[in-house]
Amino acid sequence: MARYKDEQCRICRREGQKLFLKGSRCYTDKCSISRRNYAPGQNGQKKKKLSEYGTQLREKQKTKAFYGVGEKQFRKYFDMASANRGKTGEVLLQILETRLDNVVYRLGYGASRAQARMLVTHGTFEVNGHKVDIASYLVKAGDVISVREIRKDNGVIKLNAQENAARPVPEWLEKDVKNLSGKVVKLPAREDVDLPVEEHLIVELYSK
Ligand code: SF4
Repeated sequence: MARYKDEQCRICRREGQKLFLKGSRCYTDKCSISRRNYAPGQNGQKKKKLSEYGTQLREKQKTKAFYGVGEKQFRKYFDMASANRGKTGEVLLQILETRLDNVVYRLGYGASRAQARMLVTHGTFEVNGHKVDIASYLVKAGDVISVREIRKDNGVIKLNAQENAARPVPEWLEKDVKNLSGKVVKLPAREDVDLPVEEHLIVELYSK
């Protein structure tokens, strides 16, 4: 039997949810969650009762994995959200959603968030006509994100635009495939974020 080596799928299986870390495969029945929805490892099929801390920790880890953000950056976003007048958990998700790599992925120009991040750091995109190669750049309402003119012939971008044409774009974004661009119509609200997470548990974890 082939050895199971897929690290990204292991993360999904650990969290018991599809986190869409592998691009087009996540939307097919090859997805490991569809085939083996239990935690990896020898004891993966045993049901474990998590402590309160364990449950909070899992919610945080799941969110970090979904957006591909490290602990330091995630904590920074949490501090930004705490300083905001809104509900900390919801603002935290809003910040994560507005990262440029996530927006590129949501618009379908990246097959996964990881690929979108790579495309951004390679200088493929511009925001409001200015090149931006920082994946953590936070977009604002009204911003227009476009593939730069000199990158419009990029085979990966063309393939993604074609393959992801049918992938739904969240309501807070507007896609213009013809011009390989997209617009931030408004900032995302909680209901616009499709991550099944109890964000208040993350707030509780960091508030200890
Ligand atoms: Fe693997 Fe994607 Fe399925 Fe996650 S959602 S288990 S990354 S194929």
